[in-house]
Amino acid sequence: MRRLLLEGLLRAPLTEAAPTPDEVALAELATTVGRVARRKLGRSLAIREVDAGSCNGCELEIHALNNAFYDIERFGLRFVASPRHADVLLVTGPVTKNMREALERTYHATPSPKWVVAVGDCAADGGCFASSYAIAGGVSQVVPVDLHVAGCPPTPEALLKGLLALVERQSEAARSS
Ligand code: SF4
Repeated sequence: MRRLLLEGLLRAPLTEAAPTPDEVALAELATTVGRVARRKLGRSLAIREVDAGSCNGCELEIHALNNAFYDIERFGLRFVASPRHADVLLVTGPVTKNMREALERTYHATPSPKWVVAVGDCAADGGCFASSYAIAGGVSQVVPVDLHVAGCPPTPEALLKGLLALVERQSEAARSS
């Protein structure tokens, strides 16, 4: 017993080194999303995440945007608790029949202008759950979708790139109209 305790105290922790993504590129990407959003909206971008039936893999990557490493709030992008405060709905998963009405009500509760981003392969067409009796379909079969971010699950970088593409596209549309 004493030997085990001593070993536990003296042995170095068995952890792997954290991955080292390009922090400069990441900061540039997030800063650009924040800047373009402020130009378009006159303020920061408010995001509401909606799990319409995912396996939670996509949620883990979306939550990572808020962790100490990505910390996207420092760039003026923030997650909000209510669709009434949101500009963007990040919707994950195939839409289950149980969540269909909740998603529709969340969409209608979000004030315009609003954008819907379908996150992950399941959100496109049901993905690996498409043939299930419990699935209503991809997100676009329930509410209008402005952008789809592919991946199973998409990485935090892919999510940021998707948000950037979305706000830039909307800025261009506003300029040309
Ligand atoms: S895309 Fe992949 S990670 Fe996301 S909900 Fe579907 S199976 Fe899960």
